[in-house]
Amino acid sequence: MFSNIRIVLVETSHPGNIGGVARAMKNMCLENLYLVNPVNFPNSEATSRASGADDVLGKAIVCQSLDEALQECNLVLGASARSQRYISWPQVDSRQCGELVASNVHKEQVAIVFGRENSGLSNEELERCHYLVNIPCNPEFSSLNIAAAVQVICSEIFQTVRQVDEIEKADEVEYATASDMDRFYSHLEQTLIEVEFLNSAHPHKLMRRLRRLFNRARPDKRELNTLRGILTEVNKKTKI
Ligand code: SAH
Repeated sequence: MFSNIRIVLVETSHPGNIGGVARAMKNMCLENLYLVNPVNFPNSEATSRASGADDVLGKAIVCQSLDEALQECNLVLGASARSQRYISWPQVDSRQCGELVASNVHKEQVAIVFGRENSGLSNEELERCHYLVNIPCNPEFSSLNIAAAVQVICSEIFQTVRQVDEIEKADEVEYATASDMDRFYSHLEQTLIEVEFLNSAHPHKLMRRLRRLFNRARPDKRELNTLRGILTEVNKKTKI
């Protein structure tokens, strides 16, 4: 999934920043880096700032134009420190960017474009983007270092994609049905009587409390089978 996401840096001047970006990306499982006319690349400072993410640098694709870097992309977001100036363009904040990317990344190629350290992205470049992304921060000091900006946005994407994955995985779980649970409760009750933990003449509210406990856990079929297996072993021992 992360392989459908690319980070595009436009005319970055400091090679150290390119290395910092590669590191920030790799921390968040992103590996596709596109460099549009970098001022100084490849460069040893980039490699040293990448601190182990030099594989990301090694396969970075250097392009002559933004268009070239955006080929095949169907969702393009441009990161901009200056939200107010482009208010007429669709805008999202970094958290919404994570959600937008997570909900599109299965079927779309996504690019997130970052601007020059001194002047950001030009209006023409911003107009290539479907959305502008702004990282909410101190309005008096809103320009982050480019590697920090990449870190925040990639982290939002990483967390949201992971959450969506977990929800999907949870959906695959086959929960025990009401009748599975009923069979389990009868088995449990019979076993508790057998081991004399439950006196059927004075059951009090034990079974009710146990039902509440197991219902709260909402076991899946495999978990319930394990519990039934434990009860069966107890039954065997008490019958000896
Ligand atoms: N002085 C430039 C800022 C450049 S910082 C300007 O005024 O635009 C380099 C890049 O980091 C920006 O082009 C942008 O892509 C990203 N960036 C920095 N701060 C950001 C923020 N608060 N929100 C979104 N992107 C940001």
